Amino acid sequence: MRFEKLRRDVLEANLELVRRGLVLYTFGNASGIDRDAGIIAIKPSGVPYDQMAPEHIVITDLDGNTLDSKLKPSSDLATHVLLYKEFSTIGGVVHTHSEYATAWAQAGMEIPPYGTTHADYFHGPVPVTAELTADQINIEYVHETGVAIVERFRTLDPVAVPGVLVAGHAPFAWGKDVAAAAYHAVVLEAVARMAFYTHTLRPDCKGVSQTLLDRHYFRKHGAKATYGQ
Ligand SMILES: [Zn+2]
Repeated sequence: MRFEKLRRDVLEANLELVRRGLVLYTFGNASGIDRDAGIIAIKPSGVPYDQMAPEHIVITDLDGNTLDSKLKPSSDLATHVLLYKEFSTIGGVVHTHSEYATAWAQAGMEIPPYGTTHADYFHGPVPVTAELTADQINIEYVHETGVAIVERFRTLDPVAVPGVLVAGHAPFAWGKDVAAAAYHAVVLEAVARMAFYTHTLRPDCKGVSQTLLDRHYFRKHGAKATYGQ
């Protein structure tokens, strides 16, 4: 089987989303990219997770054209393809309809950095995209979802903020590989849940200071990171 390691990693990331309670039925999808080989590996469309095996993971080229696979790729493939083209530093993409992150997306609200759990992973608010226009929805909807994300990140660094809320829809997360993307999707859901409770308890909560945000983010990331072994 070609690209066996990447297929296994993509399968494992998809199963991790299920184990962590981010995915109902077959909602949600994870993909990984091998930029040297010029291929993307993504979950097949509509295959139950308990029957999914590495050979079911669909391989496409960098434009999303399926390469020797009998199964259809996830219907969200075009969003993944665009994110890989525009965010050259990422190696994995995850999309779920996890409950709390989706609630913020449906409300059209960014998630403010209310505490250090958020600051450890997202250096600023988790942004929300603009609503898609009728034309965007009617023509190439899945691709345009990616366009809305890229547009929102014109002034943001996708490494410092590894996720987004698509307005009226749900979150996307990414990372250096597909495992990191799944990890960020799980953290995003936890942060969204905590933020929901914080906002409920105190709607005017100002959140962490820039100093605390920087302290926590740079403790884990960047040249001066001190966290871990
Ligand atoms: Zn979706």
